[in-house]
Amino acid sequence: MTRSFAADAAAPARAGRIRQPFVLPPLAYGYGALEPHIDALTMEIHYTKHHQAYIKNANKALEGHPELAAMTAEEILGDLSSIEEPLRTTLRNNVGGHVNHTFWWSILSPKGGGEPTGDLSAAITRDFGSFDAFKKRFSEAAMKRFGSGWAWLAQDGEKLAVESTPNQDSPISGGAVPVIGIDVWEHAYYLKHQNVRADYVDAFWTVVDWEQAGRNFAAAQA
Ligand code: MN
Repeated sequence: MTRSFAADAAAPARAGRIRQPFVLPPLAYGYGALEPHIDALTMEIHYTKHHQAYIKNANKALEGHPELAAMTAEEILGDLSSIEEPLRTTLRNNVGGHVNHTFWWSILSPKGGGEPTGDLSAAITRDFGSFDAFKKRFSEAAMKRFGSGWAWLAQDGEKLAVESTPNQDSPISGGAVPVIGIDVWEHAYYLKHQNVRADYVDAFWTVVDWEQAGRNFAAAQA
């Protein structure tokens, strides 16, 4: 069974839309669709092995906790402090991994690249000075994240912010709403770009889906 996350994309961003039990969301494109920027084998392993493992581990951890069964993935990440250890860390890593990867596939497109338009473009100029200045900040955040993690453009309060998180931590846990993000775990790029993370970050700009980013931004204003 799969569930489309695009079908109810208008759902309030903070309440979330990823319900239990967690399942792999359908990909809107083939494994090879982002070649040569992101290679087909990386896509296939990332989606069928890495993402699937986060889902399996999250569902397994939640099996014995009916009191959490009605919570969306986003609600869990937004209220981790209410959950006792060691379950809290398991959910932080694996529900985080599921939410982050579901988001990741959704903001990539073979028709991506270019620049944002409309309200998102205006907000980026307002909060960073220019699109190029934003791009530089985001790329630096992706490069400076030591070890595994993510860099994000997120709506944080009244403003857009560039953030970076370790492991599978999500901006949602800090009350922010992701607009775009980049997975800088080596599993996301090593087969194609080896140790040269900068090449991968450059490649990302050619496949990022600014139309979806615009919808994420609009949903975050609610
Ligand atoms: Mn990943």
